Amino acid sequence: MREETGSAQTAGSDDIIDLQSSDQRTGGEGHIANDEKVAETIYTSEMAIKNLNYECGHIINHSGELLHVEHGKAHSVNPPVELIKDNIFTHNHPSGGCMLTVSDIRETIKRDGYEVRAVTRDGRFVSFK
Ligand SMILES: [Zn+2]
Repeated sequence: MREETGSAQTAGSDDIIDLQSSDQRTGGEGHIANDEKVAETIYTSEMAIKNLNYECGHIINHSGELLHVEHGKAHSVNPPVELIKDNIFTHNHPSGGCMLTVSDIRETIKRDGYEVRAVTRDGRFVSFK
């Protein structure tokens, strides 16, 4: 008898979890919600990498998901080229240079990236779309 009651309670908990998942999926479909999520992910990523002593790159998609983190060297970072297409690539410039390099822009165009961004220690950023 007691075991049967326990099973019924477990099934009830599963129902609640299913409902929460559905709500999250619905919320993610709006374009405005996605833009806010993308902006939030970019901000979180750039705050996390701006003070590093080496270059670190984050690739973010249009759902605001962080797809990949690439740890580079003092003055370079080379993310997987197949992940750049249609996505946003942001990275830090430990040297403090608040401008994109020729290589930053060339790779973005060559790989059909949506946006490339660079952030410096003081939180300034530069973007090319
Ligand atoms: Zn760069």
